Amino acid sequence: MPHVIAQPCIGTKNAACTEVCPVDCIHSTDDDDQYFIDPEACIDCGVCVEVCPVAAIFFEDELPEPWLAFAQLNAAFYQPPVRAYGRLLNSGDPVQRVSAHKHVSSRSAFSRECGK
Ligand code: SF4
Ligand code: SF4
Repeated sequence: MPHVIAQPCIGTKNAACTEVCPVDCIHSTDDDDQYFIDPEACIDCGVCVEVCPVAAIFFEDELPEPWLAFAQLNAAFYQPPVRAYGRLLNSGDPVQRVSAHKHVSSRSAFSRECGK
């Protein structure tokens, strides 16, 4: 189980976590409104949690219920877009399916949708 960046990063995105991660597994782009953790590379050291000014980073098992979708959102950042959105479109969660349909061409917009 990796760590996950959730909704509070949106609007802050100060990159403090990227400066302390020992395996360089936190990334974003100018088009994204938050940072994302690579679930395949995260070693669960927890160092990033300590430096986040808005408490946006959680151990996956401890994500608050309203932000559970951020686990998939973080992972999707590191996968080819078509495959990632296909997985969300086929998921059993109707909220995620609707969000993926509405924002299939915009990962940033999908991120905001998950934050509601
Ligand atoms: S828990 Fe450790 S390895 Fe994982 S993203 Fe945070 S700093 Fe990086
Ligand atoms: S330290 Fe927190 S707010 Fe800053 S980029 Fe990382 S997760 Fe986002």
